[in-house]
Amino acid sequence: MGSLKTKIFIFFVALLMVAQAASLWMVYDANNKQGDVQIQSRLNAAVSVFDTLYQQRNYYLQAFAETAAKDFGLKEVFGADQRSFLIALNNHRKRIDADIAIAVDQKFSIIGQLIRRNPNEKIRLGPEQGQPFPSPQWFGVDGTFTKLYQQENELYQLSFAPLKSGQQVVGWIGYGYQINTTLAQNFADITGLSIEFMLQQEDSQWRAIAAAIPTSHPQAPSQQGLAVIENRVPDHLFATQIEVGMVSKSPLQVTIFGSRSNLLETLQENWWHLLALEGGMVTITMLAAYLLAGSITQPVRKLVRQAQYIARGNYESSVDISEKNEMGQLAKEFNQMQQAVLVREQKISHQLKHNSLTNLPNRFSLLETLDTLLQQKDTFFSLLHLDIRRTRTVNDTLGYQIGDMMIKEVGKRLLKLNGASQTFHLDGDEFAMLIECSTLNELVQWQQKIEQVMDDPLCGEDTLLHLQLQVGFARVPEDADDPQTLLQKADTALSHGKKAQQSFQQYLPEMDADANRRLSLVNDLKVAIAEGQLCLFYQPKLDLKTGKIHQLEALVRWQHPIQGMIPPDSFISIAEQTGQIDALSNWVMNEAARQYQAWAEIGLHLSIAVNISAENLKNQQLIRSLKGIWKTHQLPQNSLSLEVTESAVVSDPESAIKMLCEIKDQGIKLSIDDYGTGYSSLAQLKQMPVSELKIDRSFVDKVHMSNDDQIIVRSTIRMAHDMGLTVVAEGIEDQETLTWLEQHDCDLAQGYFISRPQPASELSSWLLESEYNPSSITKVLHG
Ligand code: C2E
Ligand code: CA
Ligand code: CA
Repeated sequence: MGSLKTKIFIFFVALLMVAQAASLWMVYDANNKQGDVQIQSRLNAAVSVFDTLYQQRNYYLQAFAETAAKDFGLKEVFGADQRSFLIALNNHRKRIDADIAIAVDQKFSIIGQLIRRNPNEKIRLGPEQGQPFPSPQWFGVDGTFTKLYQQENELYQLSFAPLKSGQQVVGWIGYGYQINTTLAQNFADITGLSIEFMLQQEDSQWRAIAAAIPTSHPQAPSQQGLAVIENRVPDHLFATQIEVGMVSKSPLQVTIFGSRSNLLETLQENWWHLLALEGGMVTITMLAAYLLAGSITQPVRKLVRQAQYIARGNYESSVDISEKNEMGQLAKEFNQMQQAVLVREQKISHQLKHNSLTNLPNRFSLLETLDTLLQQKDTFFSLLHLDIRRTRTVNDTLGYQIGDMMIKEVGKRLLKLNGASQTFHLDGDEFAMLIECSTLNELVQWQQKIEQVMDDPLCGEDTLLHLQLQVGFARVPEDADDPQTLLQKADTALSHGKKAQQSFQQYLPEMDADANRRLSLVNDLKVAIAEGQLCLFYQPKLDLKTGKIHQLEALVRWQHPIQGMIPPDSFISIAEQTGQIDALSNWVMNEAARQYQAWAEIGLHLSIAVNISAENLKNQQLIRSLKGIWKTHQLPQNSLSLEVTESAVVSDPESAIKMLCEIKDQGIKLSIDDYGTGYSSLAQLKQMPVSELKIDRSFVDKVHMSNDDQIIVRSTIRMAHDMGLTVVAEGIEDQETLTWLEQHDCDLAQGYFISRPQPASELSSWLLESEYNPSSITKVLHG
């Protein structure tokens, strides 16, 4: 019932039914009326037939009676000898085969009566022979007349003619026909209707005199006379009655009747034909309605099916509705909508799988591609994880637009080198490339290709940017057989490369071993401080204005009993993560203070910068420790200073800055370390109570060759000076860099070119003999 098709179908069928019912009713009504008319005319005809029949018999009988009465022979024997008269009477009777012959004399006595009770019987002498005629009043008329005459139970139509002698009536001669089945049958056969003669008795009861049904209709109704008279004709019959005359005082009624079905047979037949026709029409129309409903709803169903296809993500097929009507229009719109949805979905899925900045496939695509590649047998390839160096600083100093431009440019160049299906933009400034080779030789060639393609600096509005990449790679099948592990290993290689200052770093299993080693270091570190395995190396900061060294940076080393000298990068983070950094920093500060005093005692006044970590800033005890150290070692102002990285204030800037302010309030100088590698901008640095800024060595090491590094360093120096900060450049490895920094107003320089970090004794020996010696004392003196 619910579907449109069913509704349309039901609507059509209902419409059809109403139309059919109306037409049927009209036909039925017309049929009925026609039936009534037909019945009426049939009855009228029957009545007139009966009349004619009956009257004909009258005329015939009267004419015959007159003829017989005039017959001379008969007259001659009338009143003479009875036998001769009866023979003559009978001879006449025979001529018309009458059922009754009567002769009445002047005294109204029956002088001859011949009668038979039915046509098959022989004529015999009537029972009233010789008796007075029962109705002598009949003869009061002049001339012939016809009456109904009852003899015992039989009824006769009887005509009398006067028998005259001269002008004198001497008697009457009558001939009659019985009102019997023959008459009835004759009528029935002519009219095709049944007939019954009914006579009312003295006791008012009706008696059937004769009856017949038409021979042609053996099924016709019979003996309905009484019903007709009593006006209770059953519905399936039609009838009429005629009063023929009176017998004594009782009427003789002729009842005529027939069955409707017989009469209306043809009508009925037509009616059945019509019904069959209508039935056929209904079936055909219903079928047509069904097909029509189907054809109307077919496009709708097509659309529904198409919608379901689309819902399942199937866009290949389209709906094909050739009709030029609204449905065709709808289908056209539908197909257009489908195209639009397809385009949008492709766009969304493109966005899902591509980086919006470079439009390169993203990490998701990489994982998918790796998944497919790794499912193939005998595949070998390498995954390169590439990271643009110093993006943050470019963003900070040159703006995000330039940063984005740089990332886009790197993407474009990598794409040109390796094709869209093999180059991915993971996020931020990180890219990945799949390379179909895995021998190290080939990979070295790839490194050169990458370096070559990045060689040309990127020209900005008024900048020349050098594109530098840090690459880590892992190989299949050697290093991994699933996407996640492969990515992770390439990432490990990248981080190791960053630490080891290797721009192209292969993944090595030792890197994971490093992680294991790290784990054992966690335990060993606990005893390292207590057992005096730590020591400090010192690296000078050269004052570029005076050319002398007044400041050093203390860098911790771990002399591991088994693993030998361990660099701080390997254990500082462990100390931070295992809650030992406070102890470590305390040890370093105490050791630096002790060394400061030791040098001070020989007249060497070197201010020492100590690195503290973000974790230290979280500990409220730090101030107390610092106070304790100053007190214990009786340190003057500016003896020790602290270096913190920008990352130290990232996690909880408010409390970190508060702590830094308290430190500054103690008169302790603070430096921002590794500036440019973290996430803070110079603007954010304004809030930090620092007096020195150390530019990270990654900006410094090629500054004399790289235009953009020059821009970054120059603008950093200028801005730092504007903010009242001294600037230290780290990582100076050659004269050119040193000269460039000198020329560009940098305050202090630190790097291997000046001195590597060295143990205290070695450093002071070296310093006293070097040109940077800040005091008048010499090694010799010291010695
Ligand atoms: P940092 O504070 O940036 O220290 C400078 C690092 O750069 C030192 O590495 C130093 O050896 C290195 N370096 C100096 N000049 C040059 C140069 O011309 N070229 C190159 N390639 N490198 C140069 P080191 O001693 O391995 O220290 C690494 C990091 O460990 C330090 O970086 C510092 O963040 C941390 N660290 C060192 N000692 C301590 C400490 O006592 N406490 C804390 N919390 N961290 C420390
Ligand atoms: Ca430092
Ligand atoms: Ca540093």
